[in-house]
Amino acid sequence: MQNHFIIEMLGIKDKHVDVWDFSDQSDYLLVELRTKVKKQKCPVCKEKTKRVHGYRNQKIQGPIMSNRPLQISLRKRRYLCVDCNHTFYEKLQMVERYQRCTNAVQTTALTYTAVGSFTTAAQLTGMTTNRLLRLFNRHKIETTKVLPRAISIDEFKGDAGGERFQTVIADVENKEIVDVLPDRKVDTIKSYLQSCDTSRTEIVVMDLSKSFKQAVRKALGNPLIIADRFHYMRQVYWALDEVRREVQRELDKKARIRMKRSKKLLWKSTYKLSEEEQEKVNQLLQIHSGLREAYDLKNKLDQWFKESDEVTAMQGLEECLMAMNASKIEAFHKVMKTFKRWKQEILQSFMYRFNNGYIEGVNNTIKVSKRMSYGIKDFERLKKKILWRQEVRRALALV
Ligand SMILES: [Zn+2]
Repeated sequence: MQNHFIIEMLGIKDKHVDVWDFSDQSDYLLVELRTKVKKQKCPVCKEKTKRVHGYRNQKIQGPIMSNRPLQISLRKRRYLCVDCNHTFYEKLQMVERYQRCTNAVQTTALTYTAVGSFTTAAQLTGMTTNRLLRLFNRHKIETTKVLPRAISIDEFKGDAGGERFQTVIADVENKEIVDVLPDRKVDTIKSYLQSCDTSRTEIVVMDLSKSFKQAVRKALGNPLIIADRFHYMRQVYWALDEVRREVQRELDKKARIRMKRSKKLLWKSTYKLSEEEQEKVNQLLQIHSGLREAYDLKNKLDQWFKESDEVTAMQGLEECLMAMNASKIEAFHKVMKTFKRWKQEILQSFMYRFNNGYIEGVNNTIKVSKRMSYGIKDFERLKKKILWRQEVRRALALV
């Protein structure tokens, strides 16, 4: 193999590193590297020197080549400063002083961790998982402390650092995760917001969480708070489901199984139902008048949600609230109370429409990061994995 090709393949940028020998050791390939004498600056007194003091062979792991690991033996020079008698090793770009693999291998391994598990990334690059984890722990990812115009605060079940839920702060307009917080407590979110430059932040999108609202009010004063459309409508579907499950419990086995399987069917918007599905729904609703009532309420809210604009939303919401109030279903009374409490924020969601795409993107990143890591118990590692995945994806998209 040509020497310059080896140098290139190993990602070596040091001009004074040369291939001395390349050999096939049957179960691995061996590249011996040597360096040329180069004028050095003494790290102590800053004087220049070319006086060689001695050598040391450093074993370094290279990339996998045609399924065989490549070992590098690097002869490093130790220099002597003739001014202050200090001895020191030459500085090389290709490998950090205490590392046992090249920077190129490390970069590749880190890139793989953004799209796969640590174990897979380690296997592909010939590193041990532990070494890769240590490398990942040392790797710094910058998060901005300047928050954008519109942020969202959302929770997810990360099960890390002894907390079931973590909080993700996202840039709504740019559809990006800004930061990940260790839990969803008022104080955590408040301190985080206070530690940031929030002078540009005008809009906060959130789910119907009292603690998020409290934290935002305490830290940001009076921004425009918008209830996340997906989150509040979910409550309507959950209420319908509560009724369905209650009814289900009273049924005989055959009917119970049929009811159990019809969750999604009942959730579907009526205008999307095929004739056959419509017939199935009708049969289900005949079983129990309470279920029919819950189903009708869901449809009323669904229609309001999908067909209203900033002008009609308020009137429509009042009608929905009245309908829920008039019903005898406890689950929908709860929805009514929540919607009343968050009326302002819910109505704002019709004024300032944000594509829910950001939530999908964010949730997907988190879901994939969690799956790739088989439940990371360490919060910092989970956070880094999420942010790192986003960073690498962004970099790849730009290429
Ligand atoms: Zn010196």
